[in-house]
Amino acid sequence: MDRQGRQSFTYAKLIRTDDDGLLTPYGGELVQAFVPASDRPALLERLPLLPALQISATELLDLEMIASGALSPLTGFMTRVTYESVLTNAQLPDGRPWGLPVTLAVTRAAALSIRSGQEVALYLGVNPVGVMRVEEMFSWDMEAEARVLGTAAHDAPTVVRRERQAEYLVGGPVALLAARGAVFMQHQHLWPLEMRGQIMQRGWGQVAVPHIKHPWRRTHEYLLKCTLESSDALLLHTPAIKESVVEGISPEAMQVASRMMIENYFPVDRISANPMSPAYFAPRPRAALMHAILSQNYGASQIVLQEDDGVVRELFAEAARHGLAIRPVCMPAAFHCEPCGGFATPKSCPHGESQHLDVTDAEIAEQLHQGEGLPSFVARPDVARTLARGMADRPEGMAVKSDGRHIYPHAAEVSSELRQSLAGHKACALWMTGLSGSGKSTIAHRLERDLLLAGHRVFVLDGDNLRHGLNHDLGFSEADRRENLRRAAEVVKVMVEAGMIVIASFISPFRAERQMVREILGVSYREVYVAASLTTCEERDPKGLYKRARAGQIPQFTGISSPYEPPENPDLHIDTTVTAVDGCARQIHDYLANAGILRTVRGDHRVAGAVGLPARGGLRIQ
Ligand code: ADP
Repeated sequence: MDRQGRQSFTYAKLIRTDDDGLLTPYGGELVQAFVPASDRPALLERLPLLPALQISATELLDLEMIASGALSPLTGFMTRVTYESVLTNAQLPDGRPWGLPVTLAVTRAAALSIRSGQEVALYLGVNPVGVMRVEEMFSWDMEAEARVLGTAAHDAPTVVRRERQAEYLVGGPVALLAARGAVFMQHQHLWPLEMRGQIMQRGWGQVAVPHIKHPWRRTHEYLLKCTLESSDALLLHTPAIKESVVEGISPEAMQVASRMMIENYFPVDRISANPMSPAYFAPRPRAALMHAILSQNYGASQIVLQEDDGVVRELFAEAARHGLAIRPVCMPAAFHCEPCGGFATPKSCPHGESQHLDVTDAEIAEQLHQGEGLPSFVARPDVARTLARGMADRPEGMAVKSDGRHIYPHAAEVSSELRQSLAGHKACALWMTGLSGSGKSTIAHRLERDLLLAGHRVFVLDGDNLRHGLNHDLGFSEADRRENLRRAAEVVKVMVEAGMIVIASFISPFRAERQMVREILGVSYREVYVAASLTTCEERDPKGLYKRARAGQIPQFTGISSPYEPPENPDLHIDTTVTAVDGCARQIHDYLANAGILRTVRGDHRVAGAVGLPARGGLRIQ
């Protein structure tokens, strides 16, 4: 403590990254602002004595980005002088160009409860996620900020803040307490040091970052493929949290559609997807600059922009004079050209605009809401189906047409992310598919018991059980079996939305039906193939069904008189003929742990994903 009673606050470290051969971070060094393991026990003891500030999911995302160095050279939330300099001149006080404010907003009551110079604890719900030394509090003019920045980029955070009635901004250095604090970012999210490690490990020389938020259109595909032809890999910064609806298309639908486009049409070993705050993607110059800065910090060498106006060029040229080394490459928006018979840009197509086909997001949304498919020049058929499905699922204020009725779902005040965050683990749907008797139910219940005892919110949904209630009206015709699965998937979806790990045990023998389930469940869907040979299943015959099927008493029995189509690319393949029940349950458990879905316990340090990196320290959310 100093003489004013201020707590010393020395968590932020600046590290050099010279050895990795990648571009130097913006500002020269990479910020690392974590509470070191040696300080954690003492800090945890005094945590209850510190004033507590609640932060939002978006602010936690920013906190994590600051701490991991993604926003280097920032070491904390902006103080007034930095905030005003960024807002007015798009630069930090030292003259270095900077696109957007990174701020922590609090209510009047919260502001009154803290003093400048004080150390405060930052909480998301009941979870302590970080500490901060308050340098100053100043009133926040949200309207003025929106006038300068426009609303699009800051829409989601601003809405949340408005709902919280935040009136003040709190600035000062921070340190992250919980490793992978933002639960929704845990899955596949790499921090700058890890991303740099991955780039080195894979021997990628040139990594390009497209400045596109949701690449699901054919024109995006064209742009991404062109970029990939001239670089070693693409780094995709995918939005990590919910945003407001733009042009009527739900962001979740676009997110799932983008994932499908990448998975089905790109060499995934040359793509690295990293969840990111959606605030950094708006196509305006400031967001493009922010995206460029953080991409350089992650080790990328090139950012692909779709705009090439004077403002962008000037901003990037000025930033280049201050250490922005990432190369901006302009690739204008593409279109489909009839005479060319493919995609092109004005750079490569000699034909007039009248020959170009393109549609706006608003037109696409309209078409999807009318229940019409999208033309093949707009989206791949599988991607279009996913999008249509997502639209129907999450209309966000738009009416869903259903049998001529208009249904307006009520907007929830609690997000799925918040539920997951408070539960301390992610939600997902484990879809167990396999022959009857392969062991789906047995393993599902064993896993359920283990996860429940470890504090997870988990539930087994068994195909047989649903048939007694919700689906009692359904038989075993092809249409009824499909409807049985559709309803089951919708039930699972609600449970996942409620924050649960759902283990769904359904034979689900056909690929097309599993694809339907995948489309309903979106990113939460994890396919587990519970494999056993037909002979083994028949020997086990726990319910005597095979015997009856062989006797001709059960028509269309999977494996006997109806085919089972094994998954081609399941998330997990377990073989119950060689592994005992406990081992099978353990394999799924390990898969969930590695995917960052499970609750983590204090002191459980996950090994960093890239070579040459220290295992990540830090306290997990309990
Ligand atoms: P399903 O739900 O796939 O129809 P069940 O779990 O009802 O299958 O039945 C599987 C049967 O096989 C049970 O009697 C179980 O005890 C037995 N079994 C033997 N080895 C295994 C294993 N490794 N995993 C799961 N079940 C196994």
